[in-house]
Amino acid sequence: MRQSRLFTKARREAPADEVAKNAQLLVRAGYIHKEMAGVYSYLPLGLRTLNNIVQVIREEMDAIGGQELILTALQDKELWSRTDRWDDEKVDNWFKTSFKSGGETGLAITHEEPLTRIMTAHISSYRDLPVYAYQFQNKFRNELRAKSGIMRGKEFLMKDLYSFSRDEAEHGAFYDRAREAYAKVFARVGIGNRTYVTFASGGIFSDFSEEFQTVSEAGEDTIYVHEQKRVAVNKEVLSDEALGKLGLSRGDLVEKKAIEAGNIFHLGTRFSEALGLLFTDEKGERKPVVMGSYGIGPTRLMGIIVEVLADNKGLVWPEAAAPFKYHLVSLGHGGDEISKIADALYDDMQKAGVEVLYDDRDLRAGEKFAESDLLGLPKRIIVGKEAAASGMFEVVDRASGAVEKVSHANLLSSLQPPASSL
Ligand code: ATP
Ligand code: MG
Repeated sequence: MRQSRLFTKARREAPADEVAKNAQLLVRAGYIHKEMAGVYSYLPLGLRTLNNIVQVIREEMDAIGGQELILTALQDKELWSRTDRWDDEKVDNWFKTSFKSGGETGLAITHEEPLTRIMTAHISSYRDLPVYAYQFQNKFRNELRAKSGIMRGKEFLMKDLYSFSRDEAEHGAFYDRAREAYAKVFARVGIGNRTYVTFASGGIFSDFSEEFQTVSEAGEDTIYVHEQKRVAVNKEVLSDEALGKLGLSRGDLVEKKAIEAGNIFHLGTRFSEALGLLFTDEKGERKPVVMGSYGIGPTRLMGIIVEVLADNKGLVWPEAAAPFKYHLVSLGHGGDEISKIADALYDDMQKAGVEVLYDDRDLRAGEKFAESDLLGLPKRIIVGKEAAASGMFEVVDRASGAVEKVSHANLLSSLQPPASSL
């Protein structure tokens, strides 16, 4: 993509109405637009980033047997009344509205109820189990706090997977695989080393649910980390009794601020019993399906990556999330020799199928570099005087600042996908 064609413009100043680092940088760099407090649109660079994060999660959910679907945003009041999650006294963050034809509806806060009901039409025997279904879908929550930018939206993207199993043992085996899949997701997007499995409240048929908490000063949660064991305990459950069950002692734990990137939850038979999701087992007995739920917020994850990886010059994307892998920056002016060399390299990179943003604009070098730092693409290729004189380009690593000098031919061969081993 030629940057001269990109409609979004980077700005020098941080927006005055944002306190969160993630929103300040993403708005400045033109990745997102703030509609209202806690409500953001994703512009081309932001959408490419978000789609990359979604794809990492999708691959890991598919790898553990997930089947992708998409459910509706509009929710059926009658269904949610059956599980006692419709009343504002029970769930306080619904956005509700009414139909012209009469009756109320709400915008989806989560999807246990509708998916469980759908499964009653597809699951009747032990032979139909287990089933793992997931989606990427916008959730709507009337969140009170809106200080965390895209990490706490009123409208936000969630990946939610639900598992349907015959019994506790089958459920437990999947739950363990989901935990591993989550660890892979967080490692692939560059935050694995600061993300901890964290014991929290809310488990049914087990003492704890598990959150994946990423340590960051911007976090709203307080956790207690056991560095050697790479686990943590959420403040909300920190007690002598809980520590005893987990085999941890208070003296080994260090208090940290953290952000919940995802969670995995035992639901037991709460929803299957309330909504009549039963199956016939091998002995002909009718039993409720054992369920679990597994959430990750891709938009929150994008915000977390910004919070923990960005530096004082701007965004820093890991390869897996970056909207483009390369930022090709030409220091040429008005079709001079440098511009021609940069054009040729851009064409060759395009042909090789490389994701490259090409800064072909006629601007001062300092301005281009500052903006390139702000956008945060992993590798910057600089085509300047040296390229014209000796045919060498500087390749700068955004995260480390390391500089390499590479020729056109070597650069292109390093971009070629590895030869097939067939
Ligand atoms: P929190 O305690 O931070 O409000 P939660 O317990 O409400 O999170 P869930 O309802 O389990 O979270 O949602 C699953 C995942 O969706 C979370 O782990 C998080 O990544 C994401 N998420 C939850 N609320 C928001 C939000 N308001 N904005 C963006 N992402 C969110
Ligand atoms: Mg919440």
